[in-house]
Amino acid sequence: MKKIMAANWKMYKTQQEAKDTAKKLLELIDGKVKEDREVLICPPFTSLSVVADVINRYQYMKLGAQNFYPAIEGAYTGEISPKMLIDVGCEYALVGHSERRHILNESPEFLAQKVEFGLEMGLKIIYCIGEKLDQRKAGKVEQVLTDQLEKGLAKVSKEKDIVSRLAIAYEPVWAIGTGEVAGEKEIYEAHTLVREKLIEFIGGQAKDIPILYGGSVKPDNVKSIINIDNVDGVLVGGASLDANSFSQIVLA
Ligand code: PEP
Repeated sequence: MKKIMAANWKMYKTQQEAKDTAKKLLELIDGKVKEDREVLICPPFTSLSVVADVINRYQYMKLGAQNFYPAIEGAYTGEISPKMLIDVGCEYALVGHSERRHILNESPEFLAQKVEFGLEMGLKIIYCIGEKLDQRKAGKVEQVLTDQLEKGLAKVSKEKDIVSRLAIAYEPVWAIGTGEVAGEKEIYEAHTLVREKLIEFIGGQAKDIPILYGGSVKPDNVKSIINIDNVDGVLVGGASLDANSFSQIVLA
């Protein structure tokens, strides 16, 4: 399975900054990226097309959106549809990032609609899950992750060509943007659990669903994280904004 090295640029970068960062990243990594890796950039909507122009000649480079609305088109002021994302060159989209769950208050039911609709429209969906610190302290990691997977994937068709477009990102909320990275044991346990639950909910084909880790991944910790069983890539926020630091992550 290919490892997905994903950058989430959140609400950062103007078009010029996004273009410059993508160009610099390519200068640093082109010709050096391992064959079993894919590099995914998720810029803000306004920079999707400039980044698409920079990366579209490079097969290992992929474009992704941070969010979308689950409809083809319509009277949804301020929203973006999967059709528009595919049109601009997106292959991937994130759903359920913790900032959308906890700051934008997106409900589990709404996220399930997005996962289903995005997959049906042909996007590859990275469905993000993760527990908060109080939930971890209360010994509820298994319960929270199981619940998020069960609810988010409730509407997913088990057909092979649909499931083959699904990925999961385990991102403990307490490790996102905090500099606090989960320990190897915690990551191993969570990813093992996610794999077991995916197989339980979807069947044997779920062994091929990539499970990414996210939460303060940096050049100096990525190597040990990427080698943990069932870690099939990383989703990187802060350290992906700088081409130098993200290049070291991609090449680790
Ligand atoms: C993220 O935005 O998904 C993320 C993991 O952020 P950071 O790497 O900054 O913790």
